[in-house]
Amino acid sequence: MSDQTRPRIVCLSGSMRFFDQILIVAAENTAAGRIVLAPFSIVAAEDQGNAVKRMLDELHFRKIDLADEVIVVTVDGYIGESTRREIRYAEQHGKPVWYEDFGPGPGVAKIELPQPTGYPCALGVFCDECETRIVADILVSDLDDQATRFGYIRAHAIKHGWSCDKRGDFCPDCKPAEVTVNA
Ligand SMILES: [Zn+2]
Repeated sequence: MSDQTRPRIVCLSGSMRFFDQILIVAAENTAAGRIVLAPFSIVAAEDQGNAVKRMLDELHFRKIDLADEVIVVTVDGYIGESTRREIRYAEQHGKPVWYEDFGPGPGVAKIELPQPTGYPCALGVFCDECETRIVADILVSDLDDQATRFGYIRAHAIKHGWSCDKRGDFCPDCKPAEVTVNA
């Protein structure tokens, strides 16, 4: 099925404290014929900031990768730190971001976000083979950890013909030939 004929994929983002509202938006979008991706796992207080939380954050970025657009679900405009990172990630990857605010008033309102605190930062990655380096100024924020920043520069490198995956980082001259799988 091509991208033109498959249903649109929406990824919902928001604090798990708004899971009831997330389910409402999921139901509405499913009824409208869209494929819905959403967060489903609650991170315990003692797991905030550890590997479990990072894995779930990373998993949500992959859902955003799959999505055509992102819908941020909030109540009274509350947007937590993880959701802010997801919004930034979506914007940096060209995904439209919409807001469904379950405020005290009637209906759905577009909310004003605080200005992102991003600033350009020179990021670079080396070719594992020849040590050629690709460098770019990329918008980052203080909330972005090292792994997130490497993700930004690798995405940039891939757009410029690099191969960056679990085999390593390789410039266009050194990148491995695609593996052929024999049945
Ligand atoms: Zn190289």
